Amino acid sequence: MGEFELIRYYFANQPATASVALGIGDDCALLQVPVGQQLAVSIDSLVEGTHFLPGTDPARLAERLLGAAVSDLAAMGASPLWFTLALTLPEATEAWLEPFARRLAERAAELGIVLVGGDTTRGPLALSAQVHGAVMPGKALTRAGAQPGDLICVTGTLGDSAAGLQTLFDNTPSSAEVAFLQQRYYCPQPRLTAGQQLAGVASACLDISDGLLGDLNHILQATAQPLGAQIITDQLPLSAAMLQQFGHIQGHKWALSGGEDFELCFTLPAAQRDHLATLTTPVTVVGEILARPGIFLQYPDGQLITVPPSGFNHFAS
Ligand code: ADP
Ligand code: MG
Repeated sequence: MGEFELIRYYFANQPATASVALGIGDDCALLQVPVGQQLAVSIDSLVEGTHFLPGTDPARLAERLLGAAVSDLAAMGASPLWFTLALTLPEATEAWLEPFARRLAERAAELGIVLVGGDTTRGPLALSAQVHGAVMPGKALTRAGAQPGDLICVTGTLGDSAAGLQTLFDNTPSSAEVAFLQQRYYCPQPRLTAGQQLAGVASACLDISDGLLGDLNHILQATAQPLGAQIITDQLPLSAAMLQQFGHIQGHKWALSGGEDFELCFTLPAAQRDHLATLTTPVTVVGEILARPGIFLQYPDGQLITVPPSGFNHFAS
């Protein structure tokens, strides 16, 4: 099979969907945006040597690429529709394309998103996925909109991905906990349902890709009047696997400044607190938005650590 046949073979057969008038194979795809809705668009890239080590399992790359990209749709409260895929490959081999395309198709089906086109070029290994989703006008969750007094909430548990990466570096012997943490690193689970349930309700929202401190700072900086935040560190949600493998002190560090959890961080007017009980995703209130700039970490022993706005990178190191 030649290079073009390989690519056609692995990517051209996509499930038929009403919103795709013309899919892979022509110069463009022709797509029907749901009537009356806005299109949400985002692109994510993975570059060998920068985002992953040479020799990484292509199936792992597929699930990370798509999970991270679709997480941006979740963070806006959008529903996934389509994605396009740009592949730069040193060579188009079946050994790489087969597991990559198979896992990509599995994850796309699970996430409810359809591949509608792409580009394939020769060069150092790099992958980009551009995702498209739909959201009702006025309902999208943006980073701007938090107000003093709003609750700061997060979905799921934090820090697992950084912990999983650490176990990979350490070659930690396998166990149920280690497998869980590594899965959290490899395979992002976009919080699509939570994002959609929060659309029009949360005052601000984003997905956590740099640790809570760095990403929360984006929310604090997105308003005209810079805001602050108090975080009750004791409230940071840690997984049982994290507690078992690393304990809560290391867990809190990773929750605050660890890697790519792809959980949602959102703010909610305190009067809307009851809404949290209607969510079908686990959510934890971890703090409160303040009028005073800076992030203040409240520890259970009474210690209060102030993280100045300039200190996020320093803190992460
Ligand atoms: P053109 O030269 O007109 O841009 P290409 O030969 O690059 O067209 O692509 C032919 C068709 O295959 C297009 O529909 C394109 O979207 C699709 N395609 C190319 N590469 C990929 C890929 N990696 N994944 C999905 N579709 C792809
Ligand atoms: Mg063309």
